[in-house]
Parts: sequence; C-alpha cells; structure tokens
Amino acid sequence: MKSYQVVEYGAALEARELDTPEPQGAEVLVKIKACGVCHSDVHLWEGSFDIGGGRKMELGKVSAIIPFTPGHEIIGEVVAMGPEAEGASIGDTRVVYPWIGCGKCPVCEGGEENLCARPRNLGVNVDGGFSDYVLVPDGKYLYDFAGVPDALACTYACSGLTAYGALKKALPLRDGDTVMLIGAGGVGLMGVRFCKAALGVQPVVVDIDPGRRQAALDAGASEVLDPEDRDASKEFAKRTGGAAAVIDFVGAEQTARYGTRALRMGGKYIIVGLFGGEFRTALPLIPFKAMTIMGSLVGTPGDMAELAELVRNGQIAPIPVNERPMDQASQSLEDLRAGQVVGRVVLEN
Ligand SMILES: [Zn+2]
Ligand SMILES: [Zn+2]
Repeated sequence: MKSYQVVEYGAALEARELDTPEPQGAEVLVKIKACGVCHSDVHLWEGSFDIGGGRKMELGKVSAIIPFTPGHEIIGEVVAMGPEAEGASIGDTRVVYPWIGCGKCPVCEGGEENLCARPRNLGVNVDGGFSDYVLVPDGKYLYDFAGVPDALACTYACSGLTAYGALKKALPLRDGDTVMLIGAGGVGLMGVRFCKAALGVQPVVVDIDPGRRQAALDAGASEVLDPEDRDASKEFAKRTGGAAAVIDFVGAEQTARYGTRALRMGGKYIIVGLFGGEFRTALPLIPFKAMTIMGSLVGTPGDMAELAELVRNGQIAPIPVNERPMDQASQSLEDLRAGQVVGRVVLEN
C-alpha cells in the first residue's frame, strides 16, 4: 500500500510503499476512500504546539515516533476481518472512530476511550488515513453514516465529534441560558450547526472576521459579536447577564480573556481550540464567579454514536468540503498552515 508519511518534522510528507497489514484477532482492515485533513495534523507534522512565551511543547513523546502516517478522519470499505472481528461485514462502508484507547482500563471501560492514558489514536499514535489502507483494532470502532457523502461523513470523526463533544459539556442548561461560541472557523461552524440539536439553543458567536461572522449567522447563530467592539460586548453582558457556557474553538490568549469575562456567575469556560499560548487570570475571580474552566478533547464512542444518528437523520446541515486527490496530502498541510483553505480539505483515493 502507498502511505504519505511524516519522515522529518515539518518536511514534505514522503510517499512510501509499505506492506498492507493483515488483520489478526478482532482487527479490521479498511480500504480508505477518503480522509479529512485537520489542523491538528499540521501540529503533528510540525512536531510541536505553541505553549506561550515563545516556548513549544514537543510532540515526539506523546505521538507516534516518525516515520508515521497522519490522518484521523477516515472513511472506507471493510475489506478484511480478523477471525474474532465483529461489528461490520466485508463490503460495508464505515467511518472510523480514531480516538482509540487501550480498551481495558477503567477510563476505557467507563466509555471515555478518548481520554485513555495509553492511547492508540489512529493518525496520532499509530498509522492513520493518508494511505490506501488502515488497520482498525476492533470492528466496534466503525460507524455507519449511510446516506451521507463519503467526503462529508469522514469529517465527523474529528471536527464534527470535537464540536459535538465540546457542546455537550455545556449541559445541563437552564431555560433562558445563553451559550457563546468563540471562533467560526471549520470546527466552530460545526458547533454552530450542532448547537440547536445538541443543546436546544442557538448560540451567540464571536469572531474577529466579518466574513466568518456572516457564515455563523447563515449556519444558525442567534447573534454575532465582534470582540473588538467593546460597546457591543458590554451591551451583551447587560442584556443577558453573561453566558452560561462559552465554548472556545480558538484557544488563544485573547479568546481566553474574552471568554472568561463573558461568563455569568457559575458559568463554564470550555476550551477546545489549540491555537496556543498561555492563560492568565486573577485567581480570586475563579471563586468569585464560581467559574469552571475545562478542556474538551474530541469525543467518546458514545458521542460518536449519537452524532452518527443526528447526521443520518438529516438534523445537521453539511459543511463545505474541498475534495482533493490523496497525493496532495503534503500540499494540503502546507495550505492549511498558510491559512489558504476554504472548507474542510478531504483527500480521496
Ligand atoms: Zn482532527
Ligand atoms: Zn484505556
């Protein structure tokens, strides 16, 4: 099989011929039809995250040792199954849940494989989807998105699940509560689309870019705010009493400051975005506002099942997808890093 691998952090991906894996035990071999390209692929490719003050967190210890194959938004056809594999049949087209844990620890058994301390995340810790084939440890990680185009369906494995998993952390909400979403980029717009179905409310969306604010209104935001317009932010706080939950799809120093200030008493500030930097606040504000600061990392297998059902039932409007051949994997990472991408890039075989 041909795989596009990181052989040196930040250098062009290399097209390499590798042996096609043979599934053992409960494993399933999936012939990849399409794989989305995510902003975290750029971090994995570069090998580091910005953690503020000019410092970087190196990824060599937490992700796969190079060379490895990135790509975690995978859809494909089941072409071979190990003797104990269940949960799918040869010929099925399935979206792969990539946030796979050890499957044995209390965290995994409690249904939060995405938070396992011994992760086997596809395209992060083990080889992923910029390839002809991917080996999946168990058929239970395959999800049916029947009726949804392949290039769209695969994006729900990360950007969709990330948005959905973060939104659910805002629960429980009271009648009249306001939910604020910061950042109307790809994942943020998914969040806007899911908000009504997941939380029963239309969100207030904050973005510095007027085009993205318009896109948020088109996707179902109840109102939009320009964070640089201080009067509008003050008026929002006065009118609503502050947001019960702020979901930050950017995760930058400025958005953390804005988001925590926008909370009502007892509100939750939920960070999803990985833009980077560091967060400073006056510590007494945390108890005075009875504020909760929490992170959200992708979503659980249970979230994935709920999401698949919402999408199959047509409750989620599709996002724009930018389809390209698989051999543009490396160029696509470059384009994403340069911010030159409209819509979700999806590589196709
Ligand atoms: Zn991702
Ligand atoms: Zn585990």
